[in-house]
Amino acid sequence: MKKFDELGLRNELVKAVTDLGFEKPTPIQNKVIPHLLKEERDIIALAQTGTGKTAAYGLPLIQNINLRSKKVQVLIVSPTRELCVQIAKDLNSYSKYLLALNVTPVYGGSSIDKQIQSIKKGSQIISATPGRLNDLINRKAIDISTVKTVVLDEADEMLNMGFKEELNSILNKIPEERQTLLFSATMPDHLIHIAKKYMRKPLHITVGKKNTGAENVEHHVYFVHSRDRYIALKRIMDYYPDIYGIVFCRTRRETQEIADKLLNDGYNAEALHGDLSQFQRDIVMNKFRNMHLKVLVATDVAARGLDVNNLSHIINYNLPEDLEVYTHRSGRTGRAGKSGISIIIANLKEKGKLKQLEKNIQKKFVKMKVPTGKEICKKQIFNLVDKVENVKVNYEDVEEFLPEIYGKLDWMDREELIKRFVSVEFNRFLEYYKNMPDLLDPEEVKNRFTGANNPSSFTRFFLNISKREDLKPVRLIGLINDLTGIRNIPVGEIDIQKNFTFFEAGSEFAGLLQKAFNNAGYKKRRLVLEVAEKQNGAKRSGRKTAKVNRKNFRNGKKKKSFAK
Ligand code: ADP
Ligand code: MG
Repeated sequence: MKKFDELGLRNELVKAVTDLGFEKPTPIQNKVIPHLLKEERDIIALAQTGTGKTAAYGLPLIQNINLRSKKVQVLIVSPTRELCVQIAKDLNSYSKYLLALNVTPVYGGSSIDKQIQSIKKGSQIISATPGRLNDLINRKAIDISTVKTVVLDEADEMLNMGFKEELNSILNKIPEERQTLLFSATMPDHLIHIAKKYMRKPLHITVGKKNTGAENVEHHVYFVHSRDRYIALKRIMDYYPDIYGIVFCRTRRETQEIADKLLNDGYNAEALHGDLSQFQRDIVMNKFRNMHLKVLVATDVAARGLDVNNLSHIINYNLPEDLEVYTHRSGRTGRAGKSGISIIIANLKEKGKLKQLEKNIQKKFVKMKVPTGKEICKKQIFNLVDKVENVKVNYEDVEEFLPEIYGKLDWMDREELIKRFVSVEFNRFLEYYKNMPDLLDPEEVKNRFTGANNPSSFTRFFLNISKREDLKPVRLIGLINDLTGIRNIPVGEIDIQKNFTFFEAGSEFAGLLQKAFNNAGYKKRRLVLEVAEKQNGAKRSGRKTAKVNRKNFRNGKKKKSFAK
């Protein structure tokens, strides 16, 4: 691969990127830069996020700028304020040895007058968000007659965010002999449409496989019931104590909700979404960048502006509406040669989508089980032990206090000391998980329903709780597991009615089930579990049986068997 100076870039630019620590061009830079330096052809460049697209167009465009003119020559359009500012910042650092170059960022939510003033001072490159650029063009604050090149950066994302009208309007106004460059991670249909309409014989440059995810990202799926999403999220976060990542939600509201809950539950997490003021967003992003914040809960749009390279995890709290977006999300981890994990929390109904995703990224998802309380505690404890083993001890600083500490702890032996130090950190954790039922794998539960087991060995039971107590099949299975302490009791048909419930379970557990249930309570009710009449032949004759049972039950013959 060539070096920067072999691509035809002028010395000032090579020097500037060397200062930034860029040693050699990335593949997309290698392909795009030479073209842009010598021809004015339109280009569609597709490459995953994090592959260096800004410099790919930025460096050659800067080189081609007529520095003697102060007129606007390049317009760069990108979806968010953060990104637009980031691009301007990047271009400024590339051009630090070319003092005559001015780059101005313009975006909504900030004084338009100030932005107009800085454009008037003479700015050859403008980095803009679509809405604000449109405003400025309409106000004639930007003289578009001198614009030579328009760059659509993160074009797919701009369309996702509903900027189609703005883009059309901008592209309609800029002189036709302009050069149009389109940079994107994916090429959805509506983008192809825009390209066809506004670009002339574009050169297609693709780096890596189109629409595929980064190589060193593992994709994990946890199936849960929708209502268990949050619990699953917490458990997953607990299972990865050193997590540094983004939790993606679909809406601003969901984002705020989840972040609030996490914060409430003691996690180092905060929300990032469009309802926050720019000031608030800046604070959150800075905290996250310098790792004071470990988990960011964000919408796709808001997270776009973040340039962070060492994320350990991406968590899809909900899958994105547009599956292409998943590539963006997961592409945020596993960067710069590091490995990363992209986690999806999904329900069984989303299996079709997952299949589609696997196809898109051409990788298989690994199905995971939500960690049990025990697994989490173990992981956390060993994480602590590892930390103790690896901690750097500043002997000089602690020495002064040591004699007194030794004296105080003198009466404890080694075992006692270790037990105590583990407990200091973990009592809360252990306490929390001690009384928490583990999440069931909904797929396993489903298999149990569909009689994956041998039905002839089932006994039918009557139980005195029902829809009234909001009993659901999964909850019932949870109850069976919790009360008996056994996880694999085969369960057959479950029939939750208005006032009571019938269910089938492995006959060999009949005695155990009765013992376990009949002393227990559920939502303030004392449970009654009886062996019920076997349903034979006519399936679902349950109603009749039910009536009889209810009568028996109401008459107070609680402890009598309904069978035979
Ligand atoms: P993209 O727009 O493709 O998502 P960026 O242009 O934002 O990617 O670049 C991603 C990161 O890689 C930035 O931090 C950038 O400074 C860095 N980078 C870009 N080009 C190089 C290079 N040639 N060598 C090393 N790092 C680079
Ligand atoms: Mg980019």
